[in-house]
Amino acid sequence: MKVRTRFAPSPTGFMHIGNLRTALYSYLFARHNGGEFILRIEDTDKERYVEGAVDLVYRTLDTVGFKIDESPIHGGNCGPYVQSERKEIYKEYAHKLVELGGAYYCFCDKERLESLTDEDGNRKYDKHCLSLSKEEVEEKLKAGVPYVIRQNVPKSGMTSYQDLVYGQIDIDCADLEDQVLLKSDGMPTYNFANVIDDHLMGITHVTRGNEYLSSTPKYNLIYKSFGWEPPKYVHLPPIMKDAQRKLSKRYGDANFEDFIGKGYLPEAIINYIALLGWAPKGEIEKMDIDTLTELFDVDGISKSGSIFDEAKMKWLNSLYIKELPAERFSELAKPWYEKSVIAGKYDYEKWNVLLQSRVEVLSDILEKVKFIEEFGDYDLELFFHKKLKADANLGLIALKGAKEAIEAIEDFNEENLSLALAEKAEAMGMKKGQMLWSVRVGLTGAAVTPGGAVEMGGILGKEKCLERLDYSIKMIESKL
Ligand code: GLU
Repeated sequence: MKVRTRFAPSPTGFMHIGNLRTALYSYLFARHNGGEFILRIEDTDKERYVEGAVDLVYRTLDTVGFKIDESPIHGGNCGPYVQSERKEIYKEYAHKLVELGGAYYCFCDKERLESLTDEDGNRKYDKHCLSLSKEEVEEKLKAGVPYVIRQNVPKSGMTSYQDLVYGQIDIDCADLEDQVLLKSDGMPTYNFANVIDDHLMGITHVTRGNEYLSSTPKYNLIYKSFGWEPPKYVHLPPIMKDAQRKLSKRYGDANFEDFIGKGYLPEAIINYIALLGWAPKGEIEKMDIDTLTELFDVDGISKSGSIFDEAKMKWLNSLYIKELPAERFSELAKPWYEKSVIAGKYDYEKWNVLLQSRVEVLSDILEKVKFIEEFGDYDLELFFHKKLKADANLGLIALKGAKEAIEAIEDFNEENLSLALAEKAEAMGMKKGQMLWSVRVGLTGAAVTPGGAVEMGGILGKEKCLERLDYSIKMIESKL
């Protein structure tokens, strides 16, 4: 049998890392097994519906490059793939389930339901309407009394299943309620729709958050009433914000698009979230989607939650950035240069060479280029460096020599600058390192820069180099 998995998000807001990880594991499981991956939109809860959220799901799956076999956009033989367009289907099956004895009409009004609440505020439906005769039900339906359809859960006995991650799950039917399957407006609840859809869409493996672990036996009772084979279940451990708290969409935690906005690469995010609850055999951590697909297995999924660690995701991101082809880095970095203090100045290509190996996320570019525009009165300590034997005079001499050397360069480029500085150092009987240190500081005033004297000179160009050396010479002279 061909493996078929699905991702079934409810369009209730942004895509958080937890949603995306569920999608990823469903996707990897399907691909690893040569199966199919289906996207279904679960939009029956109109109150929680958020405008634009469906598009966000499409956009996110597209950004991370999942190949979808069936969806509202891709079509397929089991559509529609949007639950609000499947109302008639649920209605038909809900009525069938009533005929089969797995569900019943309930006409209880709000007051009666409220009267079932005990002192602790708990309420459990008392199967009142299950005892209505066929005639009584017919009569009420004819009279147009509003109704819901409830699941008829056995009063006693165990309902069990074998979860592929959590193992044997047993629930006492006495602890289950006869939940509403079809609401009075004709809309199904999740409890019903997920069963009908997973069955009709031929889903073989359901991969979803473990908050559904204990309600799944109830869904299996519905499968049983219909005489259907339930799918296999792969419930996933939670992603935690810290040791106590789950990552929460409600509190705006870990929004995928925010990370993209900060300059994370989709492939690095995917790699990182694959590791939040799963580990391959062996020590590897950096895995692209093809490797993940090859290695993914249910055995590697853990039962306990993993803490979301942005620092680790950053580290992985830096590895992916380093590996980008130069043209791709250039494309991705450009918008960040445009937003930075060097917008419209200098040659971005020269920065690319320096920064590709030095940024963890693309937004680091904003900070990393700042120093070049912050040149001004700086700390003379930089010239009392051990390289200059703690003698700023040596630095001053180097800068004066460098100025002469640069003035004499006709065709100013990094190669000629490097040569000119080396020759000058030699002619002055100075170590090359002393010359380069002095020039780098003299050109930037910074203790650390993402490149040496030659790269900094290359970025600044001849005229600016001379201006800055002049400034530094005067500054040192005035302070010594
Ligand atoms: N719509 C449900 C959710 O977003 C999906 C649960 C499931 O995968 O069955 O939580």
